[in-house]
Amino acid sequence: MSMIDTHCHVHFRAYREDMDKVICRSLEKGVKMITVGTQLDTSQRGLEVAEHYDGVWATVGMHPSHLCAQNFVDDEELDPSAQQMIHTGGHTFDPADFLPLARHPKCVAIGECGLDYVHIPENLNREEVIAKQKQTVRQHFDLASEVGLPLAIHSREAQKDQLALIREYIQAGKLARRGVIHCFTGTLEEAQEYLETGFLISFTGIITFSPRKKDLLVGGLSPLQEVVRQLPLESIMIETDAPYISPEPYRGKRNEPWQVEFVARKIAEIKKISFEEVCEVTTKNAEKLFGIHV
Ligand SMILES: [Zn+2]
Ligand SMILES: [Zn+2]
Repeated sequence: MSMIDTHCHVHFRAYREDMDKVICRSLEKGVKMITVGTQLDTSQRGLEVAEHYDGVWATVGMHPSHLCAQNFVDDEELDPSAQQMIHTGGHTFDPADFLPLARHPKCVAIGECGLDYVHIPENLNREEVIAKQKQTVRQHFDLASEVGLPLAIHSREAQKDQLALIREYIQAGKLARRGVIHCFTGTLEEAQEYLETGFLISFTGIITFSPRKKDLLVGGLSPLQEVVRQLPLESIMIETDAPYISPEPYRGKRNEPWQVEFVARKIAEIKKISFEEVCEVTTKNAEKLFGIHV
């Protein structure tokens, strides 16, 4: 079955020993991939990697967590010298740096960018951080509109503000290619509002996790699995967000793009349709959104 992992970070430091093996392992299993940039370094590197493989594409953008000084270090993402930048005040998004990258033939989307209200360090002024995140989202939206690419949006506990920004831009006639809300974890209402704007919703291995007993809904599903059940397959894509959030049965281990298969299988189980149909339709959705041929 051919599939596409629409959001992974296979060019991150987590794969510094065996990136080629990991990519080839997935491609041999029929799983293509889009490897996602999170700041300038990883955006450049993602494109370099994509250039070397048929079936690998990249995106360029700046993740909201890189906009402010962070207490945590993500050893999986950047080498220690680059991490120093994050400790000393964070990055600022300069569209002039990203414009040439966005025009690269292997670049299929702008992002990941968005609003993340979960990972704001407590020692910083919350309002200022949010204002910087919103300003940076606007710059990404302008860039996507200028180069005519879709967006890869990261949104955590910020769906209302994120939707307001999307609606504002669409009303202004921008964001013609729309985009995807990656690693969706919001409510059914929020998902439906995104669909009304023409965005797609993408699910990770989180949908494979067993619901906590107290969260169980009728039918034994978690609230997020119920969102999967209710959304039309035509508006859904699948992803791993590798190296993070490995699906069951590999939860807790380093993730790889081919494991997107477990996300597809879970969607089939929840929606009571065939695995083949999930692969076929989610691949078509990705081809249409990103303008690629899988
Ligand atoms: Zn993300
Ligand atoms: Zn990501």
